[in-house]
Amino acid sequence: MLKNDQLDQWDRDNFFHPSTHLAQFARGEAPNRVITGGTNCHIEDRDGNKLLDAFAGLYCVNVGYGRQDIADAIAEQAKELAYYHAYVGHGTEASITLSKMIMDRAPKNMSKVYFGLSGSDANETNVKLIWYYNNILGRPEKKKIISRWRGYHGSGLMTGSLTGLELFHKKFDLPLAQVVHTEAPYYFRRDDLDQTEEQFVQHCVDELEALIEREGADTIAAFIGEPVLGTGGIVPPPAGYWQAIQAVLKKHDILLVADEVVTGFGRLGTMFGSDHYGLEPDLITIAKGLTSAYAPLSGSIVGDKMWKVLEQGTDENGPIGHGWTYSAHPIGAAAGVANLKLLDELDLIANNRTVGGYLNKTMTEALGDHANVGEVRGEGMLCAVEFVKDKDSRTFFDASDKVGPQIAAALASEGIIGRAMPQGDILGFAPPFCLTQSEADEVVSKTAKAVKSVLG
Ligand code: PLP
Repeated sequence: MLKNDQLDQWDRDNFFHPSTHLAQFARGEAPNRVITGGTNCHIEDRDGNKLLDAFAGLYCVNVGYGRQDIADAIAEQAKELAYYHAYVGHGTEASITLSKMIMDRAPKNMSKVYFGLSGSDANETNVKLIWYYNNILGRPEKKKIISRWRGYHGSGLMTGSLTGLELFHKKFDLPLAQVVHTEAPYYFRRDDLDQTEEQFVQHCVDELEALIEREGADTIAAFIGEPVLGTGGIVPPPAGYWQAIQAVLKKHDILLVADEVVTGFGRLGTMFGSDHYGLEPDLITIAKGLTSAYAPLSGSIVGDKMWKVLEQGTDENGPIGHGWTYSAHPIGAAAGVANLKLLDELDLIANNRTVGGYLNKTMTEALGDHANVGEVRGEGMLCAVEFVKDKDSRTFFDASDKVGPQIAAALASEGIIGRAMPQGDILGFAPPFCLTQSEADEVVSKTAKAVKSVLG
């Protein structure tokens, strides 16, 4: 086994880590952590630390770490058949079974699932299908995609463009021209503090209508949104938001893509966020919770309306020219089947509702009155604490004060992993669904301690 100091050197010399300050990391100024194992909500590192992972990796290890059933399913699949492609009608028992399990759980009016590997490639697939759809319908101008500021949809060229966060655009020449952004449904950060929630929803609608008017409805193909904004700050939408937005989209014949990479398969305490908020999407993006990240797998669930046109397209043009080598990879599919079974057998979505509700309630009780806590919010097993410099005037801290990262670091030193969300001073939590009530108590009490140590 390699010694830690040798691993540290190899790590800094050779490994290009995502979302990392490269120069600081290379100079040894930013920490690294080598993870060696995990059980349920805890991970362990090489230095012998045991941490409660209250962000489930990147909100993906939904069933928790160390699940033998999933590891066995992966091993058996690898021994039987590690790989075959899914082109021209090929499949495996695992991929076909998983497609049935997904469609059995999907919201109504959905037709088929296309498999990819990551949330980003699934959203790239979605955009291509939308363009194909409008070309088959003879509407070559109807191609732009509306996304929201603070939405997160991936890190590719198109999906990085859809993402509405500064860090993901800066110096990458993004967003691309086909993407236009509109208001985030983020009531706490509204410009007009006098606005009621209802008035703010109307403001979001007005902004969307104005954008459509400016660009021309005949140039806009689709609107993409997460049921609950995730990486943009963990922000549940204000009441009535989705109903009001969907009415606008219907009026202008604009497709709806529900990006359920975080919310799919139970994160909000319901199978899909679309069901939770009454969305009627034309496409649904799935990834993370599909396999609980035991193997990479994603999907684009295609609704009936689009599916009919895709079929028409191949009758007119031949096979659809879109495929990944690893689409429906047997090992990912086997992990997905075992994961969805486990979700049911252990009734983890019900636990998510109970303990997620408890986490949000107790976090609010512990921190809601703190002078620098502007808002505690959440839904299901998602929770966020947003910090402000001054509560009455809702003045935010300067980003250079790094209040969020400091609190996340203080919390990690207490043995709890939360996430300093990338834009604003927001501490996010998205624990595995198997979180117990006493673990929730630990997360809350140590968060309160970490906040006190940084902000008093
Ligand atoms: N969509 C949403 C809502 C996400 O949260 C993410 C990742 O966090 C993605 C897409 C991109 O997924 P991936 O990182 O697997 O490409």
